[in-house]
Amino acid sequence: MSVSKAMYELGSKRSVIRDLFEYGKKRAEVVGKDKVYDFSLGNPTVPAPECVNETIRDLTQTLDSISLHGYTSAQGDADTRQAMADYLNKTYQLGVNKDNFYMTCGAAASLTITLKAIVSSNQDEVLTVAPFFPEYAVFAANAGAKFSFVSPDYENFQINMAELESKINEHTRAIIINSPNNPSGVVYSLDTIKKLAALLEAKEKEYNSTIYLIADEPYREIVYDGVEVPYATKYYKDTVVCYSFSKSLSLPGERIGYILVPDEATDSKELYAAVCGAGRSLGYVCAPSLMQKVVAKCIGQTGDINMYLENRNLLYDNLTKMGYSCVKPDGAFYLFVKALEDDADAFAEKAKAHDLLVVSANSFGCPGYVRISYCVDKDMIERSLPAFEALKKEYE
Ligand code: PLP
Repeated sequence: MSVSKAMYELGSKRSVIRDLFEYGKKRAEVVGKDKVYDFSLGNPTVPAPECVNETIRDLTQTLDSISLHGYTSAQGDADTRQAMADYLNKTYQLGVNKDNFYMTCGAAASLTITLKAIVSSNQDEVLTVAPFFPEYAVFAANAGAKFSFVSPDYENFQINMAELESKINEHTRAIIINSPNNPSGVVYSLDTIKKLAALLEAKEKEYNSTIYLIADEPYREIVYDGVEVPYATKYYKDTVVCYSFSKSLSLPGERIGYILVPDEATDSKELYAAVCGAGRSLGYVCAPSLMQKVVAKCIGQTGDINMYLENRNLLYDNLTKMGYSCVKPDGAFYLFVKALEDDADAFAEKAKAHDLLVVSANSFGCPGYVRISYCVDKDMIERSLPAFEALKKEYE
C-alpha cells in the first residue's frame, strides 16, 4: 500500500456515532422514519438566529465580490478579530484585542492548530478528562503527542483531581477541558476551575515547565437554569480558548470559530506565532470569509435555547421517572444515562432492537454510560418514550 497506514486506518473506520447514524438511515427505509428514534448526532436543530440570514442578505447586497468572497489575512480579518475581542471584553471583562485571535474553521480546527502549535516532540503528552470528545485522541496524535485521560468522577462528573495530579509529569504540555461537556452536559463549577488552576500552577513550578490549559468551548452559551460557565483565562493565565460558532449560532456546516491566545499566557507572542505557523502548515489559513463577517455581526446571539431546555426537561423527567439514572445536564444538548448493565456497548445494542439509537460512552472514556443527543424534534422524544419504557422492562 503506497499510502500512510495511519491515515488509511483513520479514514477507513467510521466513528461509533457515524456508524449509528448511518444505521438509522437504513433502518428508517425499512420501518419508516417516524419509528426510528435517532439520538446519535450532535447536529443543532434549533435554527440559526435571524441575524445570520439577515447579515448574509445584507452583505451580499452591499459588498463587491472580492470583499465578500476574497482571501482575508491568514489569521482572519482585523475587524472580525476586533469584534471578537470587544464582545469578550464587554461580557467577561477581559483585556484582549484583535492580535490575540486567530480565526478558524470551527473547534476541530482550533484544537488541531493549538495542539500542533504547542507539541514539539514525541515525548510530549496531552491529557484530557473523561468523559471527553473522542476526536481529541485523533487531534493529539496528529500533533505527534502521547494522549491519555483522567478517568471520570462518577459522582458528579467534575474533574477527578487526585488522578489528574498523579498523571501530570515533566512531559505534560497541555490539558484539554470541555465545559459545558460533551457528553455529560455538566458545567465545571468555579470551585473546579479554581482547584484545577491551583494544581496546574503547582505542577508548572514543580517541573519548571509550562502546561497550557486548552478550553474547548463550543457549548459555552448553551446553558440552563442560569448556570455560569467560568471563563478559564481569568483563573489560570496559561489558558488558550478554542471556540466555535457551530452550536451557539447553529452553524456547524459553515466551519467558523477562533483561537484566543491571551497576553498573560507564558510565551504568548511565540505561542501566537506558532498558532499562525500551525495554521499555515495544516492549510487552515483565512477562515471562510463571508462567515467571518457574519460572526462579527452576530456574536453574542444564539438560536432559541429554550427548545433544547424543553427537550432536556422532557427526557430527563421521563427517564428518571422510569427508573433510569441520569446526570442532570447544566448545558450542551446531551443526556448522559447510566446503562442498565455494565457493558454499555451491549446495552446500546439492546436499545437498538427497540429502534432507540443511543451512543455507548466507551469511546468517550466513560464505560457504563450512554449518550443521548437531544438536539432533535420534541415529537421524536415523545414518540420514543414507550421504547425507553420497554427497554427498562427488559432489565427487570
Ligand atoms: N469539541 C466538542 C466537545 C464537540 O462536541 C465538537 C463537535 O461536536 C467539536 C469540538 C467540534 O466542533 P466544530 O464543529 O466546531 O469543529
